[in-house]
Amino acid sequence: MVVLPRQAEATVLSQIPSPVPGQPITTEVVIIGAGPCGLFQVFELGLLGIGAHLVDSLAHPGGQCAELYPEKPIYDIPALPVCGAQELVDRLMKQIEPFHPSFHLGQEVIEFARQENGRFHVRTTLGTTFDAGTVVIAAGVGSFQPRRIGIDGSEAFEGTSLHYRVKNSSSLHGQDLVIFGGGDSALDWTLELLPKARSLTLVHRRPDYRAAPASVAKMQEHVAAGRMRQFEALPHSFIVDNGVLRGVHVKARDGATHALQADQLLVFFGLHPKLGAIAEWGLELEKKALKVDTEKFQTSLPGVFAVGDINTYPGKKKLILSGFHEAALAAFAIQHHLYPQKKQFLQYTTTSPIMHQRLGVPD
Ligand SMILES: Cc1cc2nc3c(=O)[nH]c(=O)nc-3n(C[C@H](O)[C@H](O)[C@H](O)COP(=O)(O)OP(=O)(O)OC[C@H]3O[C@@H](n4cnc5c(N)ncnc54)[C@H](O)[C@@H]3O)c2cc1C
Repeated sequence: MVVLPRQAEATVLSQIPSPVPGQPITTEVVIIGAGPCGLFQVFELGLLGIGAHLVDSLAHPGGQCAELYPEKPIYDIPALPVCGAQELVDRLMKQIEPFHPSFHLGQEVIEFARQENGRFHVRTTLGTTFDAGTVVIAAGVGSFQPRRIGIDGSEAFEGTSLHYRVKNSSSLHGQDLVIFGGGDSALDWTLELLPKARSLTLVHRRPDYRAAPASVAKMQEHVAAGRMRQFEALPHSFIVDNGVLRGVHVKARDGATHALQADQLLVFFGLHPKLGAIAEWGLELEKKALKVDTEKFQTSLPGVFAVGDINTYPGKKKLILSGFHEAALAAFAIQHHLYPQKKQFLQYTTTSPIMHQRLGVPD
């Protein structure tokens, strides 16, 4: 679901976010990356009455916090002596609620161009396009991509008989499935699809699983009861007949190769971040990070800002709190870029009636 941003004051641009299919969405700001810094950027912009659309290649907000260490405690968020990483994301989501940002999740930004009129064209892998006044790149260590199966020629089967995420589980019903992986995704889908599949084999490279112990125990019960098979092995090669995938050979630790019949392969080897297309947008880079100034956190292209782990400047520290500071200053610079005539002054959230109105706080 796409929720349109709240209308910003005194701006024609934010009043015409176009939800028409095939038409670009017109917005003041597109934020690339919904990690903690992208989320806090929404808040800082919202306080200034500026609406934003967020895009993330992950299916959920939270960036590294949600993807890499959701259950770990963080101890260096100001005024929160300890805060779980997912809890921090949940708190940020709560904090930005008053500004109703639009989330475009599960899609990577792959196209970016400055238009002749000074605005920006942005397009995602799902074809969502934006006509944005400014762009904030909050892409962290990059877009999280699935680790591939590692068999030559695998691209030919991606999306048809080889999957790194399940888009439509009913299309897998009644089929011979081989699932690779030992984490929660592999085990959750094993348990979910087992009653509906014609056959199911789970392949993991070692005997220990990273998934929740209860899921592992359940899976082992099914194996013991003969309802599914489990292999300790690595993917080796595809079994193909006339261009159609019929199965996969896997190689066990003892070197033996086993042929597993399959209509569909599901691979859950986790995700790894990749800077991807951002590196090709002509923005000045230093060691795979975007160079910014420390007044506006603007990149080498005016109107394009970068906050959080993706940016670099003298003394940069890749900490969440640094990203929060960067987002606050970038918001003022973005306001100035969009509305150069507008007088800027600092207001406190404690006392500002307009900020209370934006936050939905009764005065
Ligand atoms: C194990 C671990 C523990 C940590 N502990 C701490 C700690 O205690 N304190 C602390 O301050 N920091 C800690 N960090 C670092 C902290 O998590 C990062 O500094 C923080 O996540 C950076 O936030 P971000 O929003 O800049 O980027 P990220 O969290 O990396 O989020 C960026 C988002 O952008 C998305 N993205 C990237 N490119 C694209 C694209 N082209 N299109 C669409 N989406 C895209 C990604 O999918 C991702 O969701 C820790 C990191 C790790 C790995």
